[in-house]
Amino acid sequence: MYKPITDDEAPHCLECGELIWGRADKKFCNSDCRNAWHSHLRSLARMQRSDTINVLNRNYSILSNLLRLKKTSCPVGSLKAMGFKPDLVTHKGEKVGRHIEYRCFDIAYSLTCGKLFNLHRV
Ligand SMILES: [Zn+2]
Repeated sequence: MYKPITDDEAPHCLECGELIWGRADKKFCNSDCRNAWHSHLRSLARMQRSDTINVLNRNYSILSNLLRLKKTSCPVGSLKAMGFKPDLVTHKGEKVGRHIEYRCFDIAYSLTCGKLFNLHRV
């Protein structure tokens, strides 16, 4: 497992970029850099989850407002203009008729490329 490392192939610390000396599979120059790197990764994952939840909350709010207005369909372009992101759903169901039913929590709908329709609570 141990082998001499030349200057050309010496790895650099993933966190600070300093040259690393020692084991060939070493990725960090010290434990502080290793901890900082993993802390950064956890932080990024947390931010990504938070962004996803925010998008789902916005989608849910838009769909809820449509239902409150007794609307069961809407052009996708209008939804996108309101901030709706059709690629994020909480459930992708089976085909209902010719279309797949999607859900955002307890609100279900079907989509074509141009229209959201059959909007209802489940
Ligand atoms: Zn380092």
